Amino acid sequence: MTDLRTHAAEIAEQFSDHLDVSADEVEERLESLVSEYRVPVDEARRSVVNSYLDEAGIDRDELGGGAGGNEQTLLNDIDEDEQWVDVRAKVVELWEPRSDAIAQVGLLGDESGRMKFVSFTTSELPELEEGTSYALGNVVTDEYQGNFSVKLNRTTSITELDEDIEVGDDSTSVEGALVDIQSGSGLIKRCPEEGCTRVLQNGRCSEHGNVEGEFDLRIKAVLDDGDEVHEVIFNREMTEELTGIELDEAKQMAMDALDTTIVEEEMRGDLVGYYYRVTGPTLGRYVLANEVERLSDPTDAEELLVKARSM
Ligand SMILES: [Zn+2]
Repeated sequence: MTDLRTHAAEIAEQFSDHLDVSADEVEERLESLVSEYRVPVDEARRSVVNSYLDEAGIDRDELGGGAGGNEQTLLNDIDEDEQWVDVRAKVVELWEPRSDAIAQVGLLGDESGRMKFVSFTTSELPELEEGTSYALGNVVTDEYQGNFSVKLNRTTSITELDEDIEVGDDSTSVEGALVDIQSGSGLIKRCPEEGCTRVLQNGRCSEHGNVEGEFDLRIKAVLDDGDEVHEVIFNREMTEELTGIELDEAKQMAMDALDTTIVEEEMRGDLVGYYYRVTGPTLGRYVLANEVERLSDPTDAEELLVKARSM
């Protein structure tokens, strides 16, 4: 969802009791002001809201702060983009925002699981505190590549709760044939900048440029259970357990071969075609492995690969 889209959805929602106006229509008007007339977004928003106030014949005070009376939703039940919902959740973790436009970013948790949240600087909301539980009214759901999150916005109401919300274990188990290992697996280098840990591409971090990377092990694997595929990430510890190849050994292999990709190739040869059961929390579409078990003898790896490629 673009920034304009967020504004448009908010405005359409604010006027939903007064006018028959769609988010698309609002977005078009915002878009025209911003792109054609180079009006700053905030000003465009004010101007569009004012014109709708005129059209509806109401004062700004009569405008609700969005909706109110949204459906109270569990985080794990969120499966649609651009829905206005109320949630009760605890701030499980705060992360370092990567852009000035973002005031806060982190993880919310409730009894059903965890979900990323974002609040924007322009919304000027009070800061949420890690470990505190809140009732959050009027947040918007967002979807990016199958991963859901919620966005706090200027109409969001924040009420601190006395109760301590128990954050549920959203760990899941998947099993199936390991049909592929994705690029960026094996011996990798991560950005050493504080709080970054991005995987370097050709020695470059997309945020910090050329840096002296730190070696790490990781596997991004695809498990196929016959009906659907699951993407699984193994961190260093789990990769070592799964492959029996430790970080020092992997570095030595890469040094001997003058090529780091040899580690990924070696792991591919060891793993593809076997059945595994993997358990761990989910983050978006990924299962983050914290338990793994090999279930059976190898299947016909070639046949599986053909199948994997056809998906
Ligand atoms: Zn970096």
